[in-house]
Amino acid sequence: MVSARQVAEQVLDPELPVLTLADLGVLREVSEVGDRVVVTITPTYSGCPALDEMRSDLHEKLTEAGYRDVEIRTVLHPAWTTDWISDDGLRKLTEHGIAPPSRIGPRAVGPIPLTLEPPKRRVSCPHCGSARTTELSRFGSTACKALRRCEDCREPFEQIKEI
Ligand SMILES: [Zn+2]
Repeated sequence: MVSARQVAEQVLDPELPVLTLADLGVLREVSEVGDRVVVTITPTYSGCPALDEMRSDLHEKLTEAGYRDVEIRTVLHPAWTTDWISDDGLRKLTEHGIAPPSRIGPRAVGPIPLTLEPPKRRVSCPHCGSARTTELSRFGSTACKALRRCEDCREPFEQIKEI
């Protein structure tokens, strides 16, 4: 029998179905005692309505795998950031024509000056690699994506915004 962790790791993200919950880094903990499983997840962008879907997918897949007592817990702190996406996940996004978020690195702890703005990041085209891209819309098909276009190959593409 596959472990509950293996089952949970293979569940796809409803917003970005090219990534598994493991790639995305939302899976915090999977504990298994007999046929009871407790999965702890930290949802991604609070604006994305994927949480309920994620929970029911996990529930369904674990039930199918033979676990009869499945509990999904949601932990909001520390908050998920795009840095939690695995290197594998970033690679898969590019392969699917989606510009991955840049790594932001350790966040400032304590009071943050109000003037602090995220540095301008260059977003490369996932199709041809060109750095000459422009933002068409701050919001793509979902709140977590922006819509951009490459000035060289003229292809529009979605970008996962850093948070
Ligand atoms: Zn291009």
